[in-house]
Amino acid sequence: MLDYVGLEGDLDEEERLIRDTARRFVEEEVRDDIGQHWIDGTFPTDLVSEMGDLGFYAPNLEGYGSPNVSETAYGLLMQELEACDSGLRSMASVQGALVMYPIHAFGSEEQKERWLPDLGAGDAVGCFGLTEPEHGSNPSAMETRAEKDGDEYVLNGSKTWITNSPIADVAVVWAKDRSTDGDPVRGFLVETDRDGVTTNEIDEKLSLRASVTGEVSLQDARVPEDAVLPGVEGMKGPLSCLTQARYGIAWGAVGAARDCFETARQYATDREQFGGPIGRFQLQQQKLAEMATQITTAQLLAYRLAELKERGDLRPQHVSMAKRNNVRMAREQAPVAREMLGGNGIVADHSPMRHMANLETVYTYEGTHDIHTLILGEDLTGIAAFE
Ligand SMILES: Cc1cc2nc3c(=O)[nH]c(=O)nc-3n(C[C@H](O)[C@H](O)[C@H](O)COP(=O)(O)OP(=O)(O)OC[C@H]3O[C@@H](n4cnc5c(N)ncnc54)[C@H](O)[C@@H]3O)c2cc1C
Repeated sequence: MLDYVGLEGDLDEEERLIRDTARRFVEEEVRDDIGQHWIDGTFPTDLVSEMGDLGFYAPNLEGYGSPNVSETAYGLLMQELEACDSGLRSMASVQGALVMYPIHAFGSEEQKERWLPDLGAGDAVGCFGLTEPEHGSNPSAMETRAEKDGDEYVLNGSKTWITNSPIADVAVVWAKDRSTDGDPVRGFLVETDRDGVTTNEIDEKLSLRASVTGEVSLQDARVPEDAVLPGVEGMKGPLSCLTQARYGIAWGAVGAARDCFETARQYATDREQFGGPIGRFQLQQQKLAEMATQITTAQLLAYRLAELKERGDLRPQHVSMAKRNNVRMAREQAPVAREMLGGNGIVADHSPMRHMANLETVYTYEGTHDIHTLILGEDLTGIAAFE
C-alpha cells in the first residue's frame, strides 16, 4: 500500500493492530460484495454489529465501552474503511463522530449509559439530523422546533439527506428550543419508532449508493424532557460534532484515493498494449507519479492533524483545510485512475469509478468545498464572506 515517505513506520503497536484489523475486515468481509451493494443501492447491514465487535465506532472516545485509542489509530481506521467505500466509512463516521460523540460530550449520565454501549457494539444504529430541505450550508437558519408541553417536548420539522436514518434506532435531532429565551439550538435524542417520526429513504442516488440515506420527518413527535442533551446550547453543539466527523473524512479521503492509485498501478503492470505493459509508457508513469505525490502530501496533512488533535491544539479551521484539500485531491485523482483502466474502468469490478461517484457526496457533505473555502478565508483575513 502506498506509504511513500514511510509514515506507517512510526506507528505504535496498537495503531498497527487497528490498521491491520480494518484492512483485513475490508479484504475478507466487504470488498468482494461492495460493488454489488453499490449497484443495488444497499448498505451491508449484516456488518453493522461485526463492525461494533471490531471496535470501529468511536474507539477514540473514553469509557462506556470505548477504548480511547490514539487519534492516529482512529484516522487510520477511517482511511482503511474508505479505501473500500465511502459508504462504509460514512456508516462508522456517523455512528461514532455524529451520534456517540455528542452523547459522550453533552449527554447526561443516563443518556450515556442508555446509548453508548449499544451504539459502540453496533446493537443500535444512530443518525444525525441537521440538514433541512431549505437549509443545508446554513443550518443555523433551521426551522425544526421544539416546544415544551408539561414534562415533554413536542418536535416539528423536517430533516433531509440523513445518513442511516431509515435503519436508525435513534436520531440526534437539532432543533430550536422555543421554550428558552433566544430559541437556542439544542440536541434531542429521538427514538425513530416514536409516534410522529418517519424516516423515508431517498432513492436513486447516483453517489454513495452503498449507504442508506433518508429523511427524518417530525410531526408533533413527543419526547420526554430528559431526551434533550443537557450539556450544550447553540450551534456549537452540531458544529463540534462536524469537526470530529470532518477529521475522519480528511483521513478517509486519502484511503479512497489510495485505493484508486493501487488499482491503477496494478492495472498498469498487468495490462499490455503495443507489445508490453502500459506502465512502461511515460504518459502512464506521469499519472502514477502525480497521484502518488498528491496522496502523500494529503497523508502528511492527516498525520499532522492527528498530532494537533492529540495534544488539544486542533482548531476547526485546521480540519476545514484538511477536509477541503484531501477530498478535492481524491476527487481529482479518482478519474485519473479510472482513465488508466480504459474500458474496464467503467465497470463495477474495478473501484475507481465507484470512488469517483462517491466522492461527489464527500465533497458536498460535512460542509461543501465552497463553505470550507469561506471558513479558511475568514480565518485568514478576519472577514466573513458567507453572506
Ligand atoms: C449522501 C448524503 C449524505 C448526507 N448525510 C447527512 C447527514 O447524515 N446529516 C445531515 O445533517 N446532513 C447530511 N447531508 C447533507 C449535507 O451536509 C448537505 O447536502 C450540505 O451541507 C450542503 O447543503 P445543500 O445540499 O442544501 O446545498 P446548498 O447549501 O443549497 O448549496 C448549494 C451550492 O451553493 C453553494 N453555496 C452555499 N452557500 C454558499 C456561500 N455562502 N457562498 C458560496 N457558495 C455557497 C454550495 O457550496 C453548493 O455548491 C448529506 C448529504 C448527502 C448528499
